[in-house]
Amino acid sequence: MIQSNVSLKSLNTFGFDVSSKLFAEANNEDQVRNVIQSNEFLSNKNLILGGGSNVLFTQDFNGIVLRNNINGIELIEEDEESVLVKVGGGVVWHEFVLYCIEKGWSGVENLSLIPGSVGASPMQNIGAYGIEIKELFHELEAINLKTGEIEYFNNSDCQFGYRESVFKNKFKGAYLISRVIYRLSKKQNFNISYGAIEKQLEIMGVQDLSARKISDAVIAIRQSKLPDPKEIGNSGSFFKNPIVSNEQYNRLKANFPKVIGYALGDSQTKLAAGWLIDQTGWKGKTIDNYGVHKNQALVLVNYGGATGKQIYDLSSEILLSVKEKFGVDLEREVNIY
Ligand code: FAD
Ligand code: NAP
Repeated sequence: MIQSNVSLKSLNTFGFDVSSKLFAEANNEDQVRNVIQSNEFLSNKNLILGGGSNVLFTQDFNGIVLRNNINGIELIEEDEESVLVKVGGGVVWHEFVLYCIEKGWSGVENLSLIPGSVGASPMQNIGAYGIEIKELFHELEAINLKTGEIEYFNNSDCQFGYRESVFKNKFKGAYLISRVIYRLSKKQNFNISYGAIEKQLEIMGVQDLSARKISDAVIAIRQSKLPDPKEIGNSGSFFKNPIVSNEQYNRLKANFPKVIGYALGDSQTKLAAGWLIDQTGWKGKTIDNYGVHKNQALVLVNYGGATGKQIYDLSSEILLSVKEKFGVDLEREVNIY
């Protein structure tokens, strides 16, 4: 059923009080097709929404929002080493992570507590603590919003990059990702190379490593650093970490010896955007009821009642400050509507 004038306040983690002219939800592929073939869908702009944890609404949405609620987790293949699991796009990401841990499958534990839906996970190749989903991704099913047909995308079709995929670029707004197939390991294949995890496991006194313990460590780190959207509106990292050439990194290092960079292959360096923003004095700044989080300069926050336009304008000021001080272009990670 398509509804009119629906509030999106509880459907975006910034908690902006915006509404959508039209709104529908779909629990399966047939319901998606019914909506996308309707006059309301065909005659309006549209937005596919999952958990609303990576969107910034700068105004009311003057079109139709289609919320993806396709559920289900299905084991489709298994051998001695691994399993292939098909997951509905509407499944909550963290619930999928907990499901895998319960089953004894490893791979996603470092990605614990990332908000949002499984359907959005390939959108920006979600990543944290040294893992990106592209390392576990097998295939996805997506409904072409023009034809209603299901199309299949393998790993290379998705063109995954750092917080990027073909769905965030060339095919933005063209598909609804209905189901995603992940390959999980039945062996205990862990990655704890990310310093913060090792440190936290030590604090927790962990001797025998397990996916659950790594997940617990990641949850503890995240809860100590990141604002919970239920309490303070935010969309996680507002900006991506910029990737620059090694030459540019070396020039920066000469002027700012403490600049934080991580080598990406032989010729590029990933800069810690949080450090750059911190150095321009924005970390912890509050303007009325919004600002930059005190523990994490990448996270812009709505303390209640701020608008998306205010946060967007703040992000523009931050971009300018970083450009002026370091000559580096930051890019917004969040999807702006
Ligand atoms: P939404 O916000 O609903 O949508 C995001 C974009 O994807 C929109 O453009 C939307 O149109 C599109 N989209 C959503 N679902 C579909 C679908 N089924 N088919 C097609 N398009 C779709 N991200 C990380 O990568 N790593 C992190 O560690 C991380 N930590 C976070 C911490 C916090 C506190 C918060 C609030 C966010 C964090 N994020 C992180 C960002 C966010 O959680 C992810 O990007 C997540 O995948 C977004 O999922 P969602 O369902 O909420 O997407
Ligand atoms: P952090 O540990 O304080 O590190 C700061 C930045 O340095 C991170 O952005 C991270 O890049 C990079 N980094 C640190 N150690 C690294 C290593 N060993 N190798 C390569 N890069 C390294 O970061 P944080 O803010 O607390 O976040 C922790 C993790 O959760 C990060 O992976 C971050 O991406 C993820 N996270 C993402 C979001 C989001 O919305 N996208 C929100 C919160 C947390 P990477 O970001 O590339 O890992």
